[in-house]
Amino acid sequence: MTDYSGLYSFSPKLLAAAEQAEEKCREVFRRIEDIAAYNEAKVLKAFTDHRVSAAHLVGTTGYGYDDIGRDTLDAVFAQAMGAEDALVRHNFVSGTHTLTVAFFGVLRAGDTVVSVTGAPYDTMEEVIGIRGEKTGSLREFGISYRQVELLDNGEPDYPAIEEAAKTAKMIYIQRSRGYSLRPSLCVKTIGRIAQAAKRGNPDTIVFVDNCYGEFVEKSEPVSVGADLMAGSLIKNPGGGIAPTGGYIAGRKDLVELCAYRLTCPGIGREAGCTLDQNRGLYLGLFHAPSAVASAVKTSCFAAAFLEILGYRANPRYDAPRTDIIAAIELGSAEKLCAFCRGIQKGSPVDSHVTPEPWAMPGYADPVIMAAGTFTMGASLELSADGPVRPPYSVWLQGGLTYNTGKLGILLAAQEMENR
Ligand SMILES: *Cc1c(COP(=O)(O)O)cnc(C)c1O
Repeated sequence: MTDYSGLYSFSPKLLAAAEQAEEKCREVFRRIEDIAAYNEAKVLKAFTDHRVSAAHLVGTTGYGYDDIGRDTLDAVFAQAMGAEDALVRHNFVSGTHTLTVAFFGVLRAGDTVVSVTGAPYDTMEEVIGIRGEKTGSLREFGISYRQVELLDNGEPDYPAIEEAAKTAKMIYIQRSRGYSLRPSLCVKTIGRIAQAAKRGNPDTIVFVDNCYGEFVEKSEPVSVGADLMAGSLIKNPGGGIAPTGGYIAGRKDLVELCAYRLTCPGIGREAGCTLDQNRGLYLGLFHAPSAVASAVKTSCFAAAFLEILGYRANPRYDAPRTDIIAAIELGSAEKLCAFCRGIQKGSPVDSHVTPEPWAMPGYADPVIMAAGTFTMGASLELSADGPVRPPYSVWLQGGLTYNTGKLGILLAAQEMENR
């Protein structure tokens, strides 16, 4: 284990556990590095095949007609994701906004969308119209919503999905667990869901919320039968460098429809200036597979290390990964708060502030969050949060570099020990 003396002081017990954890993770890390090597090659090949040059890195103003940087980024991103086409824009304000554009781009009054992975991510409930005020949800526009639950073991209910697809314009799959404890769905499983849905209805559109999943495996959902997917650039595919934005990728005709919703009918993707954002979006994509690998390694290390210290990690350190999230059961409010204080102390920005639980709007219990990030709210950067309620689990994600991610986890454990 690295000698941090003169910089940080950790108890001998923690250092020994960290050393043991890294030893246990050796094979896991080798797998992660192999995935990163493949994905970096995919990205590099996409850059060179599209002859990216200095002219693509500068932006436009005003209407942004003929912005070759924007149009080429779409093509590079699509190739890297194994998609026919993509729409990558800094003016998607968040993951939720990006998913919303895809819904409204593709669905029409009278259509039905069926979530086949149970309840969607919290913020999607108001978009769909499951809860919230009349602010223009899908439901208000005459688009109905149904839900097929996952089975008790976390597996998709294939026969129910096949049946539901018969009357569904769109099947909606959420790849990552988000802030629940259900398992995340690997790309292969998403492929099986797509097959089941198409058996029921070959015309149904399979749409994937791909947030937190990009570059964790060697392929993405659109290579295994999904028609469309979307995600946030302040998560995986922005590589920790894109300052904002989102992407939609998949079938060309569907991406086109989304472009008409992002701007307006008739204009679609032909307008939309990029200001000075192109360079950051290209650089972020270039970095993304490597930054994602650092985050996944940090996550596996945290799971192994905290398990040695007696906590339960979900997923376990050696489980196959399809996203960058891990939940650790800490068992008490004091430990949850101490853990978050430690993560904050190990952050490059705002390390001196102390996170406190607060009553977040929309949540039943107080929530504590640790995030000291270069990009506000970016969760490919090391961050941790959890509701202050039993079993006092913390959701942990990110780590732009493995070594600093590991340090953050060590500081969190030390803070729990000092408590
Ligand atoms: C983050 C996330 C979203 C929403 O993204 P925001 O940027 O927070 O709006 C949706 N679904 C999943 C699974 C996510 O992880």
